[in-house]
Amino acid sequence: MFIDSHAHLDMSEYEKDRAEVIERAFTRGIDHIVNIGIDVASSRKAIALARSYKKKISASIGLHPHSASEWGREAADAFRQMALEPEVVAYGEIGLDFYRNHSPKEDQLKAFVEQLDLAVELQLPVVIHDREAHRETLTALRGRLGSLKGGVIHCFSGDAKMADLVVSKMDFYISIPGTVTYAKAVTVQEVVRNLPVERLLLETDAPFLAPVPFRGKRNEPAYVFHTARMVAELKGMDLNTLGAVTSKNARNLFGLGRS
Ligand SMILES: [Zn+2]
Repeated sequence: MFIDSHAHLDMSEYEKDRAEVIERAFTRGIDHIVNIGIDVASSRKAIALARSYKKKISASIGLHPHSASEWGREAADAFRQMALEPEVVAYGEIGLDFYRNHSPKEDQLKAFVEQLDLAVELQLPVVIHDREAHRETLTALRGRLGSLKGGVIHCFSGDAKMADLVVSKMDFYISIPGTVTYAKAVTVQEVVRNLPVERLLLETDAPFLAPVPFRGKRNEPAYVFHTARMVAELKGMDLNTLGAVTSKNARNLFGLGRS
């Protein structure tokens, strides 16, 4: 019924009960999970995980802006090699994070634009992380719109105006995380109200950003249900229709099979 378009199930938070977390998702109406790599090692783990759950979990590979300083030819070659695996459906998460600045800005910008070019070369859609870097993110994407194979801005943190631009001028999707259930999250709630549902994806970003009523706890794909319920309410749609449309969107973007 739902697709979790962004989860990090390879992380150590799931070391003790990973299989149970995954089974729980499947028994609670999650049809598919895209597991997102953040560096070379976790991208390899994402592929291995997808291989153990064929057609139920897919992998995305890339170097997160927090680790941008690790970017270079060696990493690029590793990702090139990984992209040959059938489990890989996207490139990312890549982008810019000028809020935490775990890597210097220049390193982030270099890793971002070079990875966008790599995604073009590999013909993979991109999964974008943008925190407090809206202008620079849009500039980098705009320069490659004709050649990119589409993409999604995950955990969207811009306003309704930026959302409209991303959707109508760039033909990207916008992914809504569990934070939409927080009472004070009025900006993202407005974004959801304004956008056509045909451009929305749902995600957990598990283990982070658990929706109400699990806020502050470890997140997991099964909880995408709570995000979906809030989005359905904001759109004035029934939950089944919202699930069908957002799942179709994710299948289109990532080229997932029907099974
Ligand atoms: Zn993430």
